[in-house]
Amino acid sequence: MIVSKRIVLHFPSRLADRPIIYRLVKDYNLEFSILKASVTPEKEGLMVLELSGDQEEYDKGIQYLTENGLRIQSLSQNVIRNEQRCTHCGACITICPAAAFELEQLTRRVTFYHERCLTCGMCIKACPPRAMEVHF
Ligand code: SF4
Ligand code: SF4
Repeated sequence: MIVSKRIVLHFPSRLADRPIIYRLVKDYNLEFSILKASVTPEKEGLMVLELSGDQEEYDKGIQYLTENGLRIQSLSQNVIRNEQRCTHCGACITICPAAAFELEQLTRRVTFYHERCLTCGMCIKACPPRAMEVHF
């Protein structure tokens, strides 16, 4: 059975120059397209992928990734903002790789554009009052 899934890979910077994705193609016959990537030196890298291939090979490929220290998140998760908790501090704006937060200049309030969200989870840790929540 052929599967095709959108996933987010979180990886430590020490793995940034390793041919991890290439191995998915070569060893597990998987196809991929990179939807988004951001790697900053000395910080966690992030890549949003559409990954497809035979189910069995797909599972082996995912296992290979986790064994190599990558954290994998499925895009079936949903990240929402608890409006009661948000203090509009702006800490999430620069952290979000999808530019899902914008500061409205007039009101000084932070708008969350849910439709841009890649569910990478970066804002969840970064939000001081824990206003960003992941739902399954
Ligand atoms: S970091 Fe949290 S509290 Fe601050 S603006 Fe973003 S969602 Fe709101
Ligand atoms: S989970 Fe948060 S940081 Fe990640 S894309 Fe969505 S809004 Fe941006």
